[in-house]
Amino acid sequence: MDTITKNKKENFIKTPIQMARSYCRIDLSALAFNVKTIQGILPDSCRIMAIVKANAYGHGDLPVSEHLNKLGIRDFAVATLEEGIRLREAKIHGNILILGHTPSFCAPALSRWHLTQTVTDYQHARELQDAGLPLDVHIKIDTGMHRLGISPDHFDDILDIFSMDHLRVTGMFTHLCAADSSQPDDIVFTRGQIRNFFTLEQKLEHRGIHVPVHIQSSYGILNYPGLPCEFARPGIILYGCYSDTSKDLLRQPALRPVLSLHSRIASIRQIHSGECVGYGRTWHADSQRRLAVLPIGYADGYPRALSNKGSVLIHGQKAPVVGRICMDQMTVDITDIPQAAPGDIATLIGKDGQEEIRAEEVAVLAGTITNELLSRLGSRLHRVTVF
Ligand SMILES: *Cc1c(COP(=O)(O)O)cnc(C)c1O
Repeated sequence: MDTITKNKKENFIKTPIQMARSYCRIDLSALAFNVKTIQGILPDSCRIMAIVKANAYGHGDLPVSEHLNKLGIRDFAVATLEEGIRLREAKIHGNILILGHTPSFCAPALSRWHLTQTVTDYQHARELQDAGLPLDVHIKIDTGMHRLGISPDHFDDILDIFSMDHLRVTGMFTHLCAADSSQPDDIVFTRGQIRNFFTLEQKLEHRGIHVPVHIQSSYGILNYPGLPCEFARPGIILYGCYSDTSKDLLRQPALRPVLSLHSRIASIRQIHSGECVGYGRTWHADSQRRLAVLPIGYADGYPRALSNKGSVLIHGQKAPVVGRICMDQMTVDITDIPQAAPGDIATLIGKDGQEEIRAEEVAVLAGTITNELLSRLGSRLHRVTVF
């Protein structure tokens, strides 16, 4: 009895993918391809700082960062202190920059885990300095987004930070807020942001201060590729996606999606003409239909906005979502896929046979961008990495 239980348990541990109700497949060779593609766009002297915040946009921060380390990436950025500590505990090596605000009372953790903190305003710099511990920091410059950072007009404040003896300034950066736009006024605005940042850099150089700089996230890399920076900060394009499909871009390299999202048919039923399906009775069968229940819902990150709108792939064919997406389940119409059976795989994002559902399409249909769609994929989903 004991051995049977034990074996069963081991079996469970060994084959999580077979047991998983729904899962993400993470293709690390696609990640490598995207890294190479991005490096090909950037000047040789510019290094990728991989953005792995929010569980690497839902892909799994640890397997993604470990693989990036293997590919030679030595610079990472996360949003929070906890995300940085997770990477360090997993022995990710290189620099890890925290992009968000960390209160100065967390200085011991920053120091203990060798994390680089963004200085989000002058007061923040003072407080980090007063913590009395040696800290690596990057200074954030606000060139117009007005979220975090110090205005380049406050040159004396910026200069003062370089003289703070507990802070080692290992970088300075800004963030563009309309780099994805091809509207003439947005381009003028973005060029102004870039110009003001480099003017500041030059003023510091005149004072004998040389500091590595970075400006571009994904769309900055694509639309403003040649900037003389030490780093660039790709997020979404690292994962092989565009944020949406509506933008005209200066460069639009073919990228390979790293993630695909799958579920497994739990149950199949016949619905008679006139019967309704799901919460709110939002869908009615206009003829005899065959439906499959998939064990994945909005708590897993499949947007509720796709109720009666989305579709999935089963046996290489599209099966439309019928009724409302529930927290943990959803229903699709498989009338035209007679071979579909319980246990069969449904692909919500990704390829099946000749068909493909891109994350971009799903995001647009849900009224959002891939950054949100992917980063909200839930912790209940297994992540299976393939090479
Ligand atoms: C999230 C983030 C990025 C990455 O953005 P993408 O558009 O996904 O490339 C870069 N820089 C900062 C400051 C960010 O917060």
